[in-house]
Amino acid sequence: MKNVQLSLNAPIVAEYDVVVCGGGPAGFIAAIAAARGGASVALIEQYGFLGGTATAGLVAPISRFNFGGRRVIGGIPWEFVERLKEIGSAMEENPPGNITYMPEKYKLTAQRMVLEAGVELYLHSYLVGCVCDGGKISHVVLHTKKGAQAIGAKYFIDCTGDADLAYMANVPMQPANKSGKLQPASLCFCIGGVDTAKMPLAHHNLDTENLHDLALQAALHELEKTEDVPLFGGPWYCSVMEEGYLIVNMTRISADMTDNKEATRAECVLHEDVNRLVELLRRHVPEYKNAFLISTATQVGVRETRRILGAHTLTGEEYLNGVDFPDAVSRGCHPIDIHHGGDTGQRCSFLKCAAYIPYRTLYSPGFDNLLVAGRCFSADEVSSASVRVQASVMGLGQAAGVSAAMCAKNGGSVADVDTDALRARLVELGAVLD
Ligand SMILES: Cc1cc2nc3c(=O)[nH]c(=O)nc-3n(C[C@H](O)[C@H](O)[C@H](O)COP(=O)(O)OP(=O)(O)OC[C@H]3O[C@@H](n4cnc5c(N)ncnc54)[C@H](O)[C@@H]3O)c2cc1C
Repeated sequence: MKNVQLSLNAPIVAEYDVVVCGGGPAGFIAAIAAARGGASVALIEQYGFLGGTATAGLVAPISRFNFGGRRVIGGIPWEFVERLKEIGSAMEENPPGNITYMPEKYKLTAQRMVLEAGVELYLHSYLVGCVCDGGKISHVVLHTKKGAQAIGAKYFIDCTGDADLAYMANVPMQPANKSGKLQPASLCFCIGGVDTAKMPLAHHNLDTENLHDLALQAALHELEKTEDVPLFGGPWYCSVMEEGYLIVNMTRISADMTDNKEATRAECVLHEDVNRLVELLRRHVPEYKNAFLISTATQVGVRETRRILGAHTLTGEEYLNGVDFPDAVSRGCHPIDIHHGGDTGQRCSFLKCAAYIPYRTLYSPGFDNLLVAGRCFSADEVSSASVRVQASVMGLGQAAGVSAAMCAKNGGSVADVDTDALRARLVELGAVLD
């Protein structure tokens, strides 16, 4: 392949203690945690709003905070839920503690909490590179409408979901998924005019059964005999807390969403599929007779891409056996939830106890001022298929944010953080580590 050379002159527009890249559930919680820990913090986000896949991907609900009747993820993530509830925009689904929410209020509440914490927000800012000296990052480079800008920091947290910053800094990545396939991507959509009084709305509501609409799944399989039905999964629904309206998760496609050609194909195919599925539902399913498509998500939702190779890789075996770690900084309690790329199937393994996630999964040796949080942490494809859900990635964001603030105060490598002190601070905040 031929290359062109582009020399970039990026003015350094600001310097902070901590820069968080990516304003999804992991990122906005990390930024709040770091700022409340006394650090000056910038949060960088490509879109004009926060929430990441939770809002841009329309993937409600927030799964899940409880295990065995006990809340196992607490602190700032739960405070966020309380703030949503205060404005009548979240509903708790128990026993699992899934949170149905209004996506627009999620954006607003995340933004309010970030600004209240004193975080400097950089929206419409796309991370395109970083300046490194060996394993140490000095600046991130953003693409903006005015051209390139550089922002310096002592510590960085990669919460881009796809590990963009870690990738640009040459952090080693997990080997490609051992089964050779990434989990499929899905374009979720919002529809109105549905007879929701007759719909099963609970989502992952039982510890032993992953609830989706089995009747509709069977009806669509029947329809495949006579009609062209796009590849689908579930379907799973989530209420947006207004009668007649639903968020639907049912399209799927195998694609590496870090590749722009593949991402383009996925977007184009799934936009066709959504429209076709809504048409089929209107024609064949009584509850959808008057349904109409309100919107597709801002972007196709991504279940799996890059994950870093960290100081520890959390395995499915450790996770399913509830192995405790001396440096555990958060918990996970969602079933292992692996979606098939090529058919309707989904493989779920249910946990016997809430799992533990060690701090060593949040950094890679030799990269002294970089933490990651969220979907791109160091895990195999089994444990990550549980931790990727929102409540657990928020828990990781909280841990990374607190750690980065401690580092900003004390100096040194993220690998040398006193994990007893980190855990004590997290418990003070409300994290559940016992
Ligand atoms: C179809 C589907 C259904 C799901 N269903 C559920 C569910 O029912 N319950 C649940 O809890 N979870 C669900 N999830 C999982 C969950 O939503 C995500 O795994 C979670 O949001 C990951 O959080 P994150 O913060 O790591 O990444 P993301 O949510 O992806 O956030 C990353 C943020 O970084 C920004 N960003 C990325 N790259 C750059 C860049 N280069 N420059 C600037 N900004 C950048 C993005 O815009 C985004 O805001 C689902 C996911 C999918 C795809």
